[in-house]
Order: sequence, then structure tokens, then C-alpha cells
Amino acid sequence: MNIACIGGGPAGLYLGILVKRSAPEHDVVVYERNRPADTFGFGVVFSDATLGHLAAADPESHEQITAEFARWDDIEIHVGGEVLRSTGHGFCGLERRKLLEILQTRAKALGVRVEFEREIKSLSEISADVVVACDGVASWVRDTLAPELKPHVEVRSNKFVWLGCTVPYGAFTFIFKETPHGLFRVHAYRYHDEGSTFIVECREDTWRAAGLAEATEDQTVAILERIFAAELAGHHLIKNRSIWRNFPTVRCGKWHAGNVVLVGDAAHTAHFSIGSGTKLAMEDAIALRDELLRSPLAGDIPAALAAYEARRRPEVEALQAAAQASLEWFEGTERYLRMAPVELTYSLMTRSLRVSHASVAKRDPHLARGVEKLLAATVGIAVDPPPPPTALPFALGPHRTPSRIAVAAAPGDEAPVAMGAAAAAGAGLVVTPTLTPQALATDIAAAGWSRMIEDVHSKGALVAVKLGTVGNVGASDAMSAAIQRAGIAGFDLLILDPGEDVTATEALPATLEVARALWRATAGSPAPRWIGAVVHDKPAARAAVVGHTAQLVRAGADIVWVSSRGDGSARLPAAPLADRLRNELRVATCVVGDDALLPDLDAAVAAGRADLVLVDRMPAGARRA
Ligand SMILES: Cc1cc2nc3c(=O)[nH]c(=O)nc-3n(C[C@H](O)[C@H](O)[C@H](O)COP(=O)(O)OP(=O)(O)OC[C@H]3O[C@@H](n4cnc5c(N)ncnc54)[C@H](O)[C@@H]3O)c2cc1C
Repeated sequence: MNIACIGGGPAGLYLGILVKRSAPEHDVVVYERNRPADTFGFGVVFSDATLGHLAAADPESHEQITAEFARWDDIEIHVGGEVLRSTGHGFCGLERRKLLEILQTRAKALGVRVEFEREIKSLSEISADVVVACDGVASWVRDTLAPELKPHVEVRSNKFVWLGCTVPYGAFTFIFKETPHGLFRVHAYRYHDEGSTFIVECREDTWRAAGLAEATEDQTVAILERIFAAELAGHHLIKNRSIWRNFPTVRCGKWHAGNVVLVGDAAHTAHFSIGSGTKLAMEDAIALRDELLRSPLAGDIPAALAAYEARRRPEVEALQAAAQASLEWFEGTERYLRMAPVELTYSLMTRSLRVSHASVAKRDPHLARGVEKLLAATVGIAVDPPPPPTALPFALGPHRTPSRIAVAAAPGDEAPVAMGAAAAAGAGLVVTPTLTPQALATDIAAAGWSRMIEDVHSKGALVAVKLGTVGNVGASDAMSAAIQRAGIAGFDLLILDPGEDVTATEALPATLEVARALWRATAGSPAPRWIGAVVHDKPAARAAVVGHTAQLVRAGADIVWVSSRGDGSARLPAAPLADRLRNELRVATCVVGDDALLPDLDAAVAAGRADLVLVDRMPAGARRA
């Protein structure tokens, strides 16, 4: 088999190494447009988990790579003049140049033909059984085959520049620096004894205000050295093709077409804040080697390429979901600056939604306890050890839910019984299925709900009624009557849900305003009862969803119920939007978690993403404080 790789980055070189190591009879050529020592960037980070895969795939290069590692366990956060340290995170890094040097030498030794200074400009230049496009984030191969591969490149809003510095940081270091121009974020990590990678990121308005839009590379270095003079303490920044860029998130509908296959950044990117691009590229190479060598006897290369994609896609998409949550955190860091340092640290540590409260407690018990104590204090609880985040009460209007867990009943006749059972199991709030006004059309129907409410109250929980809104009629007569009966029946919270109805969604702020007046005018409560609305996430139109929610808040919503369909690749997919709404609009949020696990729900509450979490059933281990 002849394999031609376009691009001699980690993906192309590692694939060559793995194929020749397992099956030297195959011919592998790597075309690289640059010279051997030309490279961009400074250090790359690996997590401990990645290393196991590399050790199994090629022990020789693994040994050389790990021998070069700078290792660190701690994460240090510089914010508001304070420096916080979180422990137990296990990372290592090395210079990108060194990594490429190791891979180039190993590839050569195994008989991979690496042709430097050879830029491939057209697929017609190559004749091979398999053409591997590992030409990086700006892959022209991907663009050429766009009709089949269906690439989607989303250019993110923040500006960033990849620099080095002469400070050998002892920990993975995040610096959040407020300036008159706005907030700068730094991601810095050591890659050898005398230096660290120093990535600077900021919003575009900050970048312009600081004069960086028109700055040359040298001027960028000078401006940033002035801004970070205190953190650099006399050390210098180092440039290397340090051009300001916007991060492009690359996704493709398909990774192969005919005998051409995409690998590494050409197929997918993951934001640098989770430091996984090189790992993904090298793990792609492992899977592609396995599948190519499994099937050539059958001669079915397209089948091998399809098997490679099927094997890699779930992991890549899960990592991209984590990277998306992480990049959104960094795009909106300004909104977290009002948090107490311990809460901000916790929010940062759990930003990718892959680190649960249980993992924080394991890695850094001090941080987990710190945030638990802080949260408990906000509701007047001072016991030691503090209760877990979801076990704490929450002030919902005039009442307190005894825990942060809300349980939604499934539709059907059994709903009232299920709600009583959820309250008995320790839920803080139980929620009706989405009701039409007909479900509260008569006093007899309301009396039925009233009995359920009494039962739930006797078990210490509160009760929410969720009413579906239809079209743009606002609070129609039937709706008005239903709201009044719900109030008289004794529900503690009214939630309006427009479902997927576009007109009802657009009309929701107006509907809510009318409904709120009716709800508050209903007798039977010592203080105004809360009203809320359901907001469905649309990641592609996030700004519009935030704008819509702002209207709901202006119309008087006390809480928003945030739901997201997700695509199965993220845990708690509604959490990033809930986070943004809670911290930007300062409105209480309930994140819809369906069947999420308790440690993820605890993290959502502890990180200040949600006040309540809504699930289908009480998660194992959940309790009230
Ligand atoms: C700021 C920043 C920080 C990062 N930090 C980390 C980190 O800490 N850890 C981590 O794991 N990842 C990190 N990454 C991501 C990482 O750099 C990439 O994911 C990784 O390099 C992907 O490897 P690759 O082989 O797919 O592509 P690349 O490394 O981009 O290699 C592609 C190669 O193809 C060559 N090429 C392109 N076109 C042609 C052509 N037409 N003909 C011949 N050759 C061609 C290029 O010269 C290049 O050598 C970071 C990325 C950025 C932007």
C-alpha cells in the first residue's frame, strides 16, 4: 500500500511512524512545505491520560517525548491582585519544536520518506492508494472536497496570540488582568527549564482599544510586556510568527472522500484552552493506522476510512463539546470577575463540564470545601463539613426549596403520584408535566391538584406548575382562568413554556407580563410568588437567545428554566447558556439536566451556573441539607 501524507505536523509524522513500525512493507511519504526546524508556537500540553495511548502505540517515541517533559500538578490563577493555587491536576508539556524533531527522527529511522520544502497544491500531484490530508487547520484539501466533506468553520470572536516568555512557570498559570482597555486573559505553561508558552487572549474591543489592531509583532510584544510587567517581573516575551488570530472551530460532516482522509486539525479543532489538539491528532493517527492495516488484504480502503471515522468521531465530538464550553467561558470571563476568588477558580476548573464536583473534591479537596462553605454561608448554613451544593436550600420567592433538585413528572394520570413520590425521596421542588389550560379548566380539576400540593408540602417540598403557552394570544381567557386556579390551588411557582412554537416564543415576554400580574394578584400567598419561563438553547443563535431572555427578565421573570437538546456529546448541555444568563443577566436559573448524574449537578450549582437543577428522577445519593 502507498500512503501519502500532506503535512508533516504531529498527525502526518505519527501516522508514518505507526504504519512503518507495524508493517514496514508499506510505503509512506510525508510532504511538508516547511523546513525541518520551522515551526510555529512554543509548548504543547498533554494530559496524563493521553500518554498511555502513546506508550502503547510506539514506546520508543513515547520514551523520548516523556524524557523532554516539563510536568506540573498545580494550576495558579492570578485575579484581582490575588494568586490562588489549585492542586492535583497532572499535566505535562514540551516544546512543539522538540516534539516534531523527535517524530521526524523516528519517522526517518523507520523508513518514512519525509520530503521537506515540498508544498502540495493539488491532489493531482499525488498518486497513492491512500491520501492523508494532515495539512492543519487551514486545510486546502478539506476545502477542495467541501461538497463531500461538508466542512463548517466557526470563527470565534476573541483575539489571541501565541507567544513565549522566559519565565519558567511552576504551575499552569491563568492570568486575568484588568486594564483601562478591558480584560486580558493569559494561558501560560512551561515547556522547558527556561521558558513557558504565553498565550494572550482578549475581546476584540479590548484588542482595538489597546492599539493591538495596528501593532506589528514587535509592537505587540512591547505593548503586552508593559501590560504584564508585574507578572513577567523583568522577564521578556518571545515572538515566533506571533500574529493575532481568531480561533476557528472546524467540524466536518464527513472525514473521508474516495481514498482521501482528513486527520488532526484538518478534520476538527478543539480550542487551545483545553490543550488537546495535538493529542487528538496523534490519537487519530493511531486509529487510522489500525483500520488501514486491518483491511488492505480485502483492498477496501474506503471501508477502512469509514471505520476510522466511526471509531474516532464520538471521542472527538465529546472533546469538541468540552472545548466549546471552555472557549465560551473565556469569551465571557468578564462576567465572572464579580465572583469571590474561590468561586471563580471553581468555575474555571469545571468550565469544560467534564470535571464534576466529585472530581474537584478528589483533585483539590480544599477548593471543593471552600466553595461548599461559601455557598452554604449564602443560605445561612455554617455546619462543618458543609452540605453538598445540591443539598442546600434555595429561596424561591416567599418560600425556600429544601434542596436544589427539582424533579419533573412525566405526563399522564400518574403525574400527581409521581410528584408526591419525588417529594418523599427528597426533591426540593416538584414540577408538573407541561399542562394546557384545560388541565385547570374547572374548580374540580384545581381541587385535584390542590390535594397533590398538600401532599407534596407535607413532605417538605415546593410545587411548580408548568403551563404551555400557544401562539401569540398572550394570556387568553382560558389561560387567565388557569393561572388564577393554579394560584388558588396553591402552586408555589408558575413556569410558562412555549415549547418549540416560534410564535409563542416570540410572544413570551408579553405573555409573561400579563401572566405575572394575574399570578401575583391571586390570593393565597404571603408574598409575591415567583414566575418563570422556559428558554430553549440554540447554540448557533446564542446572542438572540440571550436577547430574548433579557426581554423576559425585563417583563418580570424571576427564574429561567434553561433547556438544550444537545447532541449527546456534552454532559449537561444546557449549562453554558444557564451560566451565561445567570452571570450576565443576573437572573436565577434552573438547568434542565434530565438524567444527569449528581456530581455534575453539584458542579453546576457550585460553579454558579444554576440555582436549581431539573431532572427526571431523584439522582442516586441526592439529599437535603
Ligand atoms: C494558540 C494555540 C495553542 C495550542 N496549544 C496546544 C496545546 O497546548 N496542546 C495541544 O495538544 N495542542 C495545542 N494546540 C493545537 C495544536 O497545535 C494542533 O492541534 C496540532 O498541531 C494539530 O496537528 P496536525 O498535525 O493536525 O496539524 P499541524 O500541526 O498544523 O501540522 C500541519 C502541517 O502541514 C503542513 N502543511 C500545510 N499545508 C501543506 C501543503 N499544502 N503541503 C505540504 N505541507 C503542508 C504545515 O506546514 C504543518 O507542518 C494549540 C493551538 C493553538 C492555535
